[in-house]
Amino acid sequence: MKLNIREFSTGSEGFLAELEALLAWDSVSDVAVQESVANIVTQVRKRGDEAVIEFTNRFDRREIKSATELEISREEMAQAKLRVSDELVASLEAAAQRVHDYHERQKQPSWQYQEADGTVLGQKVTPLDRVGVYVPGGKAAYPSSVLMNVMPAKVAGVGEIIMVVPTPDGVVNDIVLAAAYIAGVDRVFTIGGAQAVAALAYGTDTVPKVDKIVGPGNIFVATAKRMVFGAVGIDMIAGPSEILVVCDGKTDPDWIAMDLFSQAEHDEDAQSILITPDKAFIQDVKASMERLIEAQSRQAIIKVSLENRGAFIHVKDLDEAMEIANVVAAEHLELSIDEPEKWSEKIRHAGAIFMGRHTPEALGDYCAGPNHVLPTSGTARFSSPLGVYDFQKRSSLINCSPQGASDLAKIASPLARGESLEAHAMSAEYRILADVDASAVKA
Ligand code: NAD
Repeated sequence: MKLNIREFSTGSEGFLAELEALLAWDSVSDVAVQESVANIVTQVRKRGDEAVIEFTNRFDRREIKSATELEISREEMAQAKLRVSDELVASLEAAAQRVHDYHERQKQPSWQYQEADGTVLGQKVTPLDRVGVYVPGGKAAYPSSVLMNVMPAKVAGVGEIIMVVPTPDGVVNDIVLAAAYIAGVDRVFTIGGAQAVAALAYGTDTVPKVDKIVGPGNIFVATAKRMVFGAVGIDMIAGPSEILVVCDGKTDPDWIAMDLFSQAEHDEDAQSILITPDKAFIQDVKASMERLIEAQSRQAIIKVSLENRGAFIHVKDLDEAMEIANVVAAEHLELSIDEPEKWSEKIRHAGAIFMGRHTPEALGDYCAGPNHVLPTSGTARFSSPLGVYDFQKRSSLINCSPQGASDLAKIASPLARGESLEAHAMSAEYRILADVDASAVKA
């Protein structure tokens, strides 16, 4: 099948403008979606379960009468797991264990230190009490997203994990429920879209209010998350998925073609880019793609995605490839080259770096260990993969000794008076020890 994929060369005039146009993505939803979501959120906030049932019946074509029908028990999750093949359960369990073990290493302990005058300063790390995990379910099921969103919360020690997943036409996905059971989700509600996000954010008689909502979803979900932010925390607003492959031309072109497909098959807006200093290799990969796409079950999506947002970029050398990679700040960056460790030192912006010819993104997507929820659309410039730290918060600790308080008050007092805050100044000054009478101050 012929594929019309754009080709650029860094040597050509206007390359940077072309690159910018290629990467452009507007994550803001249109006015109609904003209005619809605002209405759903307001209704759920006002009318609780009644509105959740109404929207669920409308958008997911269900016939729910009572909110109790929305919940799936741990027992039902266990039953669903029994209906899943042994091979798949084994893979889910192995992936869950690996993701768990990786995230164990991210745990940050509380810390403190003592100053010479006895004052103790530090930070207390506390897991969130209750978290809501959105698992998409409109068009496809994503058991791997269950594991990737839930495991770091479990490792962080979150008190209660509430999962929501839409079940269009009432069809429940056993693999998703099996993953929820294995990951240790406490409660599951079969609701989705903006109504699920609003129910989690504000709480209803049936759905408990959470402290933070994580997980990907369609434009209705993303818009609702943006709207409820402030009432609850959110992880991020994810755009379409992206891969950037840097290859020196020495990897099997079939491997690179399939790595690019693995991203393109997600949806029509997904982005797959190959950068190489070897011009002939671009034609080799293209030939592989045109041959291999014939047997792909999602070939229609792959074709649109590649022709829409895919690209081949020819660079003068690997140094230049790394410079472009830093401009793109891709969600997934594959370094299919010799000495990937050495070259990765030059990478400053990427959600995840897949190093070497034997590390395709697909392994990271499912089971290598690192999280597959990654910053998209260039946001890797300022944000990080989902991790244990997203489910922990920190409180500052200050415990002044009498001498420490006295010394600090002498610094604080002029600062407070400089801000015309007299009570602050006096509060601090009360703690200044009289030089002769320090021992009289109560400890
Ligand atoms: P979804 O669960 O996000 O959305 C389904 C819900 O959308 C329905 O329950 C319904 O309430 C709501 N909805 C649909 N049409 C509506 C309308 N006209 N008005 C109001 N609400 C409406 O499932 P989906 O649609 O399959 O989308 C999943 C998304 O998640 C995809 O974009 C996919 O690429 C993305 N995803 C991302 C990752 C990641 O890690 N970045 C992983 C998995 C999925």
